[in-house]
Amino acid sequence: MSLILYAYNRNKRNPLSFGPVSTGGVLELTQIVSRAFDIGLSSLTDPQAAGPRAAVPTQTSENRNSSARSFYIETFGCQMNVHDSEKVAGVLLERGYRPVDAAADADFLLYNTCSIREKAAQKVFQRLNDFKFAAKANQKVIGVLGCVAQQEGEEIFERAPWVSLVCGSPSYRNLPNLIEQVESGGRRVTGLDLDTDETFETEITRRDNPFRAYLTIIEGCDYSCSYCVVPHTRGPERSRASDSILAEVRRLADAGYTEIQLLGQTVNSYRDPSPRKWNFVDLLLAVAEIEGIRRVRFTTSHPNDFTREIVEAIDATPALCDHIHLPVQSGSTRILREMRRTYAREQYLEKISWIHGARRQFSLTTDVIVGFPGETEADFEATLTLLDAIQSDGVFAFKYSPRPNTPSLAMPDAIPEEEKSRRLAILNERQRQIQIARNEKLIGARFEVLVDTHHTARNQWAGRTTSNRIVNFSTSRENLLGQYVQVHITRSAPNSLIGEEVQGGEAQ
Ligand code: SF4
Repeated sequence: MSLILYAYNRNKRNPLSFGPVSTGGVLELTQIVSRAFDIGLSSLTDPQAAGPRAAVPTQTSENRNSSARSFYIETFGCQMNVHDSEKVAGVLLERGYRPVDAAADADFLLYNTCSIREKAAQKVFQRLNDFKFAAKANQKVIGVLGCVAQQEGEEIFERAPWVSLVCGSPSYRNLPNLIEQVESGGRRVTGLDLDTDETFETEITRRDNPFRAYLTIIEGCDYSCSYCVVPHTRGPERSRASDSILAEVRRLADAGYTEIQLLGQTVNSYRDPSPRKWNFVDLLLAVAEIEGIRRVRFTTSHPNDFTREIVEAIDATPALCDHIHLPVQSGSTRILREMRRTYAREQYLEKISWIHGARRQFSLTTDVIVGFPGETEADFEATLTLLDAIQSDGVFAFKYSPRPNTPSLAMPDAIPEEEKSRRLAILNERQRQIQIARNEKLIGARFEVLVDTHHTARNQWAGRTTSNRIVNFSTSRENLLGQYVQVHITRSAPNSLIGEEVQGGEAQ
């Protein structure tokens, strides 16, 4: 899963006036390697990208009152965390809170944490120290959400007594009740229940991306990859009822969204809990049929649940985007077994052959971990040859680092840091060459682009193709944000394409 750093209220780099954002090595690395296929951070944070369409109401009648209590959410982590924060914001809006653009101005400061980061807990406590003075001086209420909240639990109150609320994602459904306790003066309020079959649904979701709406369809994870903390922090797999998903997509279409991204830790494990008993493909096809929806994406897929049916559905349905993110993690079957990934190299390659055999030209991205305990030079070489074989358009590559409560923590034969860095550099360069060659072949092609960014300084526009490729382009037209345009590709780079709008080729 790709990581991003995202402050909910759009101030990307310096969301707090009383302390810098601490970014771990993994985040910095990811920002480098994920540029081509991240979720479009610039479109979330660039004021120029504030879109032309009102998406979902962001204010209730109560919170228009500037004397209402204010909130600010600082978010780390994956798209799931970002979207969780959008829903948490919805809960607060419903309760009459108003959002503010700076943490220093907020009465209620929420910190949505991610445990994928190296030394995540340590960094969370450092960050909470930044909040300490503000909490005491201004009587701010501080809450910790997300994976580190679930992982550290009440220990957070011991080490940061100025925190009033600790809540992991499996308990978000109880947030209205927990917030009420905090409002009534509760000071050690917890939501740490892992044993649930319910999903987190809200009346209001405050979406900040005006072009792409995120929507969680499945929470938690029933796999047990040996390096991953998610089953310990997000709880067991639970799917949202198809009726509720479709109703929300219809509301999003009515609000002007044309692009939907379905989210889940293992999104393609979706199983409708309602009597319809839809599988993932049934749901995909139903979402794609909703009037006004032009693009449907989904992430992240688990290879074990990736079926030929999914490829066939995309092939036959233009509204389903022709981009698959299918994390492989290693090209060595031996390491995959140690990782408990439940598939072998050959099985992964078979699934890729379905994608390569499709009529549409799918783009493919993947995740790789280098330097897993015991990874030999031959195992690493197997990962490199797998990348050659699959010819993907982007790789999110990470150095392995141990996480608490994971089986791989106790595995012998740790790989030295220096060696992990060497392997990562080799892999990134190999992949860079693959992307250069692949993107060069696209010169001369024509793509439909959903415009989400305007680079004012160079008067250039940017957006994404259905295959999630970034296209920068020039045109004599103006006011293109949120529009679909046709672009002729004239140049290429490892992570993006460059072109010119096809005059008279407007798609909308
Ligand atoms: S599939 Fe594996 S890596 Fe992904 S969330 Fe579940 S346990 Fe973690």
